[in-house]
Amino acid sequence: SPPSPWLPELQLKDVFIAVKTTRTFHRSRLELLLDTWVSRTREQTFIFTDSLDEGLQERLGPHLVVTNCSAEHSHPALSCKMAAEFDAFLASGLRWFCHVDDDNYVNPRALLKLLKALPQTLDVYIGRPSLNRPIHASEPQPHNRTRLVQFWFATGGAGFCINRKLALKMAPWASGPRFVDTSALIRLPDDCTVGYIIECKLGGHLQPSPLFHSHLETLQLLGAAQLLKQVTLSYGVFEGKLNVIKLQGPFSPEEDPSRFRSLHCLLYPDTPWCPQLVAR
Ligand code: UDP
Ligand code: MN
Repeated sequence: SPPSPWLPELQLKDVFIAVKTTRTFHRSRLELLLDTWVSRTREQTFIFTDSLDEGLQERLGPHLVVTNCSAEHSHPALSCKMAAEFDAFLASGLRWFCHVDDDNYVNPRALLKLLKALPQTLDVYIGRPSLNRPIHASEPQPHNRTRLVQFWFATGGAGFCINRKLALKMAPWASGPRFVDTSALIRLPDDCTVGYIIECKLGGHLQPSPLFHSHLETLQLLGAAQLLKQVTLSYGVFEGKLNVIKLQGPFSPEEDPSRFRSLHCLLYPDTPWCPQLVAR
């Protein structure tokens, strides 16, 4: 899009990145993110968790947000965290809100490139559609009636982004306690609730992007050259098998089961713990 006269060119520091985590994953998942991509996005990354952790607090300072949300995998607990992320974004004044899970790798350069190419003057909700069709929900109406609604939503586990213009319009359904209420109303998880608010309440649309990835897809299918251009990646277990990106070194699968460290060294070879190529 052409540069607009009133908005300076987007920079990474204009993007608010929210990472959702929980106490059991502080060691097993968060350390990996802090060592890799978060080390390149310190200023604008905020970690939302449910339990105090002195070590993390010391390392992250105000970038660790200990919510009052309960540490469980229930719709209300997860929506409570999304609500905290959303409110912190609104308060930050930044231009973009991006949500990711603690098993996502975010490529900061690819993220900035994607967001820069989007129209800054329109409402934008971008991510990977969770399903290949809209999801259905029943929306309670007055007098014990319900209305069937359908909408697209971006998989939370692949990450998604919303610009400030749209986020401000979402506030009546998403700010403070209202996000949890909206989620309870349609009885769906947090990422569905985001889609519901944007598509059913505001008439907006999910802009699908193939650059966001969760471990619900076969990650090995991404080619080596493509891997370096993706906005988000993930790892995990899918249908009983380890689902990770396919990448040659520098670390072995035993040293680096998620492959995030190897990927990070390809993207940022000057990282101190990456094997250094000796120039001669
Ligand atoms: N999560 C959480 N509370 C829980 C369990 C998970 O906040 O009790 C977070 C977790 O940190 C991650 C996301 O929810 O960011 C998804 O969890 P996970 O990857 O374990 O499950 P998935 O839904 O991807 O299978
Ligand atoms: Mn996951």
